[in-house]
Amino acid sequence: GAAIEAVDVTRSYDLGGTVVDALRGVSFTVSDGEYAAIVGPSGSGKSTLMHLLGCLDRPTSGVLRVGGRDIGDLSDTDLAALRNAEIGFVFQSFQLLPRQSAMANVMLPLVYAGTPRAERHDRAEAALRAVNLGHRLDHRPNQMSGGEQQRVAIARALVSRPRILLADEPTGNLDTRNGAEVMRILEELNAERGVAVVLVTHDDEVAGRARRQVRVRDGLVESDSAAPTPRHAA
Ligand code: ADP
Ligand code: ADP
Repeated sequence: GAAIEAVDVTRSYDLGGTVVDALRGVSFTVSDGEYAAIVGPSGSGKSTLMHLLGCLDRPTSGVLRVGGRDIGDLSDTDLAALRNAEIGFVFQSFQLLPRQSAMANVMLPLVYAGTPRAERHDRAEAALRAVNLGHRLDHRPNQMSGGEQQRVAIARALVSRPRILLADEPTGNLDTRNGAEVMRILEELNAERGVAVVLVTHDDEVAGRARRQVRVRDGLVESDSAAPTPRHAA
């Protein structure tokens, strides 16, 4: 089924007089269990689209449904709860708390969700083991490599058991070896746990390994390998 459905969404930024139309009418469905790469030039709207799909932002116009619910009908509080339950988000720049342990960083979404302490602990440890960081539970981000930090961020995104993982340039700050390790983990989560993965990448090899490629240009979806092939007369 459709995990996230965007129908003709736009997003404009008003920069005090000048309006930037970052997305100009995009329809896009993330299906359960899929693995998609979003590519396109810098400034084409990829991050804006990811932020909308991840409910970190709302469209200027158009409809966005998550788990069948129109987010336009939800208060900010209800939207945050829906996002926490359904969607994990991974940023290029990790966005970890630098002075807190890996465990504390991964437990944080469960603190917001009101999960009891013992369960928080067990689930955070399991999530860190799932990204091969069972030996780094008490390390702080500044004691870890970039690849390890991104794996902590993936564990934090996973700990709420989302159906969808959205990753905005997850390997953008990593060297080849660390980037490959992060990609291996995202592929494994998709293949073995059925988590839908949508990622933005500038790396052709990373994009080529995805089952679906979506190309964004000037605020529009220029091509989508999952879209039905147009029929041509004769
Ligand atoms: P990409 O991820 O493809 O590089 P973005 O979605 O970041 O593209 O940006 C699309 C356009 O929207 C760009 O012109 C960018 O400068 C603008 N933009 C993105 N985010 C903001 C923002 N928070 N405020 C103002 N303009 C923004
Ligand atoms: P990430 O959040 O993936 O680590 P960055 O550190 O590159 O990525 O930050 C991107 C952020 O900057 C996004 O929130 C995006 O919306 C915002 N942004 C992009 N272009 C602009 C712009 N022209 N003006 C203001 N904010 C922008």
